[in-house]
Amino acid sequence: MLEINNLSVEFKDVTAVKNVSLSVARGEILGILGESGSGKSTIAHSILRLIYPPGKIVAGEIIFNGQDLMKLSEDEMIKIRGAKISMIFQDPFSSLNPVFTVGEQIAEVIRLPQGLNRREAYDKAVQMLELVKIKDPAARIKDYPHQFSGGMRQRVMIAMALACEPELLLADEPTTALDAAIQDEILNLLRELKDKFNLSIIYITHNFSIIKSLCSRVVVLNKGKLVEEGGVEDILQNPQEPYTQNLINCVKILNNYCPT
Ligand code: ADP
Ligand code: MG
Repeated sequence: MLEINNLSVEFKDVTAVKNVSLSVARGEILGILGESGSGKSTIAHSILRLIYPPGKIVAGEIIFNGQDLMKLSEDEMIKIRGAKISMIFQDPFSSLNPVFTVGEQIAEVIRLPQGLNRREAYDKAVQMLELVKIKDPAARIKDYPHQFSGGMRQRVMIAMALACEPELLLADEPTTALDAAIQDEILNLLRELKDKFNLSIIYITHNFSIIKSLCSRVVVLNKGKLVEEGGVEDILQNPQEPYTQNLINCVKILNNYCPT
């Protein structure tokens, strides 16, 4: 459903992403693994065409359901963002507005695209909170973001991201700021939602353990280049690139210290 061909992105003289190709099927979770600065977020932002000067997509195709997103007008892209392709980030607090209730914020993102009136949008917002397993959604919907814990805020963000029923979710390190137990709950929720809606997910992380538990396939980035790709188990058993061997060894060492 998504195919990226030879994507290159530059920020002035820095090549953030170089000649990267990857694909995601319907209902699949693809992992993108790489350390900080390897170009992971730049790929996600490129898919939504949210690269701004001095950044520039200098080459590549991004084919979504047969259509090259690079060729769409900004008006056409607006109809894709949120509605067809949505995104969640590492820090849910900075993306929620502190002065509006979570209900108002979720209702706001669904009202226009879904052609709902205020009442309907609010009801749908309650349903969305229920979907992401926030207890007592009809009451919690009236709360402000600061009244939610980090994990609960990430659930709110997931509710918002899925409210317009997208086909593809870009998850950019959404659990990095969370405790391990809460992180597992969020990963379980994503797995469940994927099955329920046959959602495709691109899961971005520097953490091989998450890739192992969540994804069937992974691409490994190093300094903007794709250095390895394949089935997660294959790569775990037999990493080809020294860079990937290193990442996997680090995970093994950590697991020996604190087995999970
Ligand atoms: P990751 O998400 O893997 O940590 P990024 O995609 O954020 O990596 O960054 C890749 C490279 O692009 C880095 O060298 C970073 O400094 C550069 N970069 C990303 N965004 C910008 C920006 N807005 N302006 C300048 N350089 C940027
Ligand atoms: Mg990033």
